[in-house]
Amino acid sequence: MSDVSKALLVLLRGLVRRCPSCGDPGTYQRWFFMRGRCPRCGLLFEREEGYWTGAMAINLIVTELIFAVVMVAWVIKAWPDVPMVPLLTVGLVLNGIVAVLFYPIARTIWIAIDLLLHPLEAEEIEETARLHHVRERSTGGL
Ligand SMILES: [Zn+2]
Repeated sequence: MSDVSKALLVLLRGLVRRCPSCGDPGTYQRWFFMRGRCPRCGLLFEREEGYWTGAMAINLIVTELIFAVVMVAWVIKAWPDVPMVPLLTVGLVLNGIVAVLFYPIARTIWIAIDLLLHPLEAEEIEETARLHHVRERSTGGL
């Protein structure tokens, strides 16, 4: 597999809320509750203090892009009689809903981007392998 294909696979895994490293779907216990590590490969998701700042930036960019597209389309369609109160109300609600619901996806996308830009260091690989080995022994490989 080429480097570009690997990078796209890692990003795709992040986009569908899977572990970007191994593709395991168990990154979240529920929609908003992320596990600390991947249940399959042991990847530590929060790699350093302030790690989720990148996820917040992705979340903000996606939320505001969706907001802008909806607002511009609405204004163009309704021009010149733009209903300001409904427009602003929908805009506020849309910003709240998208920002909250997309955040878990933004986190796994950020993990994927971070893994591509900042690959695991030797000690992280050792720790992940050790945890994977302990898990294999405790579950009998199940
Ligand atoms: Zn994993």
